[in-house]
Parts: sequence; C-alpha cells; structure tokens
Amino acid sequence: MSESLERMADFDLSDEQREVRRTVREFAEKEILPHVERYEQEERYPSELIAKLPEMGLLGPMIPEEYGGSFSDVLTYGIICEEIARVDWVVASVISVANSLCAGSLLNFGTDAQKEAFLPGIAKGEILCSACLTEPGGGTDLGNMQSTAKKVDGGWLINGTKVFISHAAHAGLFFLVASVDREKKHKGVTAFVFDPRQVESGLSIRDFPMRTLKRDKLSEVHFEDAFIPDEALLGKAGGGFPILGGALDTGRFSVAARCVGQAQRCLDLALPYAMEREAFGEKIGGFQMIQQKVSDMVCRTEQARLLVYRLGRMKDAGVQRASMESSMAKLCSSQAAVQNALDGMQIFGGYSCTQEYEIGRLLMEAKSLEFGEGTSELHNRLIAEFALGIRKQ
Ligand SMILES: Cc1cc2nc3c(=O)[nH]c(=O)nc-3n(C[C@H](O)[C@H](O)[C@H](O)COP(=O)(O)OP(=O)(O)OC[C@H]3O[C@@H](n4cnc5c(N)ncnc54)[C@H](O)[C@@H]3O)c2cc1C
Repeated sequence: MSESLERMADFDLSDEQREVRRTVREFAEKEILPHVERYEQEERYPSELIAKLPEMGLLGPMIPEEYGGSFSDVLTYGIICEEIARVDWVVASVISVANSLCAGSLLNFGTDAQKEAFLPGIAKGEILCSACLTEPGGGTDLGNMQSTAKKVDGGWLINGTKVFISHAAHAGLFFLVASVDREKKHKGVTAFVFDPRQVESGLSIRDFPMRTLKRDKLSEVHFEDAFIPDEALLGKAGGGFPILGGALDTGRFSVAARCVGQAQRCLDLALPYAMEREAFGEKIGGFQMIQQKVSDMVCRTEQARLLVYRLGRMKDAGVQRASMESSMAKLCSSQAAVQNALDGMQIFGGYSCTQEYEIGRLLMEAKSLEFGEGTSELHNRLIAEFALGIRKQ
C-alpha cells in the first residue's frame, strides 16, 4: 500500500488497533496468502490454514477471555476480518461465522451449559462452526422456511434441507433454524445449537455442486427425523427470529469488514500493475481512463471502510441494534468489493482471466458476499423502510 493509503486505512484507530492490524496483516501475508492459490487449484478446503488461526487468538475475537477468547472490542474484530479477508475469503468466513452468528448467539441467548460446551472449543479451534439457514426454496425470506422441528420426548425431530452451507462437513457446531409451527411464519422459527457429529441418524451432509468457489466446499445438509436433545434449543421455541436478527446484525458487520478487505486487495493488486504494464510506450497508469478506475476504487474502498468502522464504533459505544447502519455497511461494502474486482480485472486486461493473477478469482468471491447475510435487494429495501419510518430499529 502507498503511504497515503496506509494513512487513510488507519483513520482514527487506537494504537492497539493499529498494532492488531499490523500483526494480523503480517501473519496473513506470511502464513496464509502464499498457499491460497494452491488450495484454489486443488479445490481443497483450507483446513491447514485454518489450524494456524488459534495460536494468534484469531478464532475468538468476539469471545470473552473467561471462555478462552481474545475479545477486546468490536472494531478490532472488524479489522481482523478485514485483514484476513484481504488474503483469503474462506479463512475469513470461518472467523465471521464462528464469532458473529454462532458465538454471538450463544453469548446472548445460550444457557451456561451451552456456553461452556462450545465457546472454549471455538476459541481454541477445536470446534468449527456452521450456520444452517438457507433452504432450496430461498434464503432471503427466512420467515417462510420449510424445515421443521417437532417436539418429542427428550428432544426434537428435525426434518428439512439446507443448502449452500459453509464449513458443514468440518463443523463441530451447527447453528440451525427450523420452524416449530409453519403457520406462524417467523413466529414459529426456532434456533438450535448442537454438535452434528453426535446426531446418531437422519443427518446427511453432501457436497453442494458449485460451478465456482470450490475450495469453500459448500454442503447440502439434509435432516430426516434427525433427533437432537432438549439441550440443543437456543432461547425458546418460536424465539428464533430475534436471535437471527441479533446474529445477522453482527454477521453483516463482519461480512462488510471482509468486503472492505477484498476491495482493498483489488486495489493492492491493481496499483502496481497499472504502474508496470505499458501500452503505446507508456505506463497504463498514466492513461486518464485507467486513472478514473483507480480513483473510483480508492474512493469506494474508503467509503465502505468508513461505514464499517463507524458501525464498529457504534457497537463499541453500546448501541444494541444498529440494523440500518449494518445494512448500509453490508450493501455498500459488498458492492465496492464487486465493482473493485471488475475495475481491477479491466486494468489487468486479458491476464485477469489467467491463473497467473489473483484478481479474476476475487470477482466471484466478492459477488458471493453480495448474496450472503442478506442480498443487496434486501438491504436496499431495509434501508429505505428505515428511512421512510415504515420499519423501526
Ligand atoms: C459462497 C456462498 C456461501 C454461503 N454460505 C451460507 C451458509 O454458510 N449458510 C447459509 O445458510 N447460507 C449460505 N449461503 C446462502 C446465501 O445466504 C443465500 O444465497 C442468500 O441468502 C440468498 O438466498 P437465495 O440464493 O435462495 O436467493 P433468493 O432468496 O431466492 O433470492 C433470489 C433473488 O430475489 C431477490 N429478492 C428476494 N426477495 C426480494 C424482495 N422482497 N424484493 C426484491 N428482491 C428480492 C434476492 O435479492 C435475489 O436477488 C451462501 C451462499 C454462497 C453463494
């Protein structure tokens, strides 16, 4: 990064936060980045890279110390997600699913026994987390989910199918939502946490066939009269929607931070290329139309970063729900990541499509972040409804 970009990137951070950024960036560039392309080529889930995270305390940035985590503040968590996503989208996803969706829900709604059972293992890297929300019929309209949970003696019988599920084949914790009464729509949605390896029958996990993004190893998770015990219930029956609301609020923050990392990576790759590549006897970075793209990329990245950091600061100041700001940060940063990948590819020309350069891979990764944790259409709608007063925080 150029000196001026470094200064902007560190905008208003404390000395500790700057130090976290420096340390995490150094770790990510040394221990993760050099290996990512190999996993991509081999379409292999990066278990060995994920195994390096606990020694740096990177699996528990939202988990309090009493459970073995390294919690300091929300903005620092965002910086960690940003810096890891700058080098690898899958490893960053492990951190954000574990901390925002799973650990966050456990801390807010879990019993002491549930917290003890899962949080220390998550922080140590012994338990990877997976969030089972999306269904074949749709991921946006979660109030209309088809999966069911039926109360039986000592527990619940789960039926239904979840698709696009990240980390499922490696997980020691499932955060699952299913309906206890489909007629009640969102008021029937119920959250569960359990170890999928302890489900004796009725649970199958298979590869979900993806055209791209293959090292993520997304799964289809199928439940057929799968029994989970009473202790798996998180909160109360029918109380899943507020849990999801809180989880997605923080989830959107961490996904937005990841998008800033991806947007920054596009810039980091494009700037030196523009100053090396020549056409018509000149560096292409000297052409106005290339400079326009560079300028747009810089502005987008900084706009997205400011929205994300502001949201982190609001959370650190104790604002419980910042749904409108979460939507704004998620919408703008995911669109910045996609557009920076497109502009970056244009700067690389045909070479963006070769295996020699990373920039082409970043486009599909960024695009997938425009779907996850709420699509752009959903966030546009939410932002407009908050602004119009149709919806309250
Ligand atoms: C790489 C990757 C990883 C993922 N990981 C996970 C995971 O770990 N766990 C998990 O549960 N899910 C995961 N997902 C799924 C993701 O969350 C869903 O794709 C997302 O929620 C959208 O759901 P859908 O694809 O079914 O689209 P749909 O809900 O079918 O929507 C289709 C289109 O219609 C639009 N639309 C829907 N409703 C409206 C409306 N009211 N107004 C305007 N437009 C609307 C949507 O914005 C979208 O453009 C992952 C997806 C990808 C690509």
